Amino acid sequence: MSAPDQAPEQARPRLSPRHSAMLAEMGVRPWWLFGTQTEATPAPAPQTAPARPARHTEPAAVPAAHPAAAPSARAPAPAPAAAPATTPRAPAPDWDALEQQIRSCQRCPLGAQRQCAVPGMGDRRPDWLLVGEAPGEEEDRQGLPFVGRAGQLLDRMLAALQLQRTQRVHITNVIKCRPPQNRNPAADEIAHCAPYLRRQIELLQPKIVLALGRFAAQTLLAEGGCLSPDELHALPLGKLRGRIYPARFGAQTLPLVVTYHPAYLLRSPADKARAWADLCLAADALEAAASTSPGPA
Ligand code: URA
Repeated sequence: MSAPDQAPEQARPRLSPRHSAMLAEMGVRPWWLFGTQTEATPAPAPQTAPARPARHTEPAAVPAAHPAAAPSARAPAPAPAAAPATTPRAPAPDWDALEQQIRSCQRCPLGAQRQCAVPGMGDRRPDWLLVGEAPGEEEDRQGLPFVGRAGQLLDRMLAALQLQRTQRVHITNVIKCRPPQNRNPAADEIAHCAPYLRRQIELLQPKIVLALGRFAAQTLLAEGGCLSPDELHALPLGKLRGRIYPARFGAQTLPLVVTYHPAYLLRSPADKARAWADLCLAADALEAAASTSPGPA
């Protein structure tokens, strides 16, 4: 008899079929199924498989995978609390100009080395803004973010929330051009690109910002005035995640959640369960923001 069959019934957490489907989408295997490997994705550490917060287990309030992920949760969604109540959630007219500026940018030497700059992609009035590090080889070729293996995992993470990259989601990076050999972005490259990210946030007016990995976390937490430079450099990513930061971006104060970069999760699948907990935290923050915002005028 296999180990999972020996797990006492009463010791197994009760997961709804929907929750099980979400964990499967993320490649997170519940501990009581350890040993019944049926897919390529390695299993996470058992103790880290998070249950969704209790308040999300009330079925009546959960029309889809996650309340904040359900389209119905969004339909009447107004602008974030810090924005004027009359702000229409329609694409900003300046967007095309900004994208054009990014595509032709020569502010730093990366401009001369790229095939394509990668401004970002997705909904221009998103609920979710996901920010990664920098384009890689495939992204540089296609001019689109997260189109390699890490991007496939990111798509599965979004699917676990019943989201997709073109609806209610916008994906971008801290820097818009590929660093040679995919090296880490340099401080001056981040500084040159920072105004673009700032302007993107201003135009997109997302309701939640998810920082993917260390560079995005450090850049956004610093930009949003959440932590001092000393704190940011002292704390590893694992210590930055697990919290909702109120981040100030211009006139907006947005909830910001930090999680692992998908490329890291490909190397360290045991942390997928923690990433799942981060996504739940972010979805909670989005739901809370939607429920406290004033309704449409
Ligand atoms: N990694 C990133 O951070 N961004 C991409 O667009 C692709 C890989």
